[in-house]
Amino acid sequence: MKRITLKVGSGVLTENNAVAKQRMLNLVSFIVKLKQFYDVILVSSGAVSSGYTALKLDRKKHISKKVLAAVGQPILMSNYKALFDIYDVVTSQVLMTEEDFDSLAHIEIFRQIIDSQIEHEIMPIVNENDITTISEQVFGDNDQLSAHVAHHSGSEILVILSDIDGYYDKNPNEHDDAVLFKLVTKIPPSELQKPDSSTHEFATGGIVTKLKATQFMLDQGRDMFLCNGYDLTSAEEFLLEGTHNKGTLFSHSNS
Ligand code: ADP
Repeated sequence: MKRITLKVGSGVLTENNAVAKQRMLNLVSFIVKLKQFYDVILVSSGAVSSGYTALKLDRKKHISKKVLAAVGQPILMSNYKALFDIYDVVTSQVLMTEEDFDSLAHIEIFRQIIDSQIEHEIMPIVNENDITTISEQVFGDNDQLSAHVAHHSGSEILVILSDIDGYYDKNPNEHDDAVLFKLVTKIPPSELQKPDSSTHEFATGGIVTKLKATQFMLDQGRDMFLCNGYDLTSAEEFLLEGTHNKGTLFSHSNS
């Protein structure tokens, strides 16, 4: 079966400092449907925001943020487990750092772990291990982690489920006349230099980290699809029906 990596941001998973349970259930049932046609690897943010639902520490402080991640990661995983249990799908937690991709030996172990999990029909749920790591060891955002996961797991496409319908010619939250790109084959280098534009207090990166992740995918001869994670219609249409209405496809074939 074809492999895909799906990345979901904290914005989709939390709402008003609580876990967005209905959206998480929608995501899990969507993944269960996808699993009939694809082997799916999920990269999920949301440890810090889940931690904050239990404990109101100052997430701007470096150590407090790590404590929130340590508190939140099991909350996030137990929410996923409860929802995947409905469908009798066994989940696994795979915590990664940037260093886990820094040598062929590391990459080989990662590949074997993912292969074995898929072979045993286990649902891998990957997140960055930002608990005991220092900044040099982490990607700092799950967009770039997910691109590495997608490439090294042999996924033909990375699908990023975000708070936005896709990639626009300018920030749609600031410009009413922003136009959505449906197909992108080249990212102008200047777009990769722009500052962080994330919208949520728990998000890291905004569009720039998504574009950097995309550039990595295109360089590896793989595609990326950016679409809305609040409403999964465009993801469903694209992945299950083969129709592309909304969402941006970044295609390597003409890049
Ligand atoms: P997520 O939690 O899904 O990772 P982010 O907040 O990190 O979401 O990134 C998506 C945000 O990037 C959008 O909500 C939007 O405000 C911002 N953004 C800035 N420029 C653009 C653009 N050209 N196209 C789309 N989104 C953009």
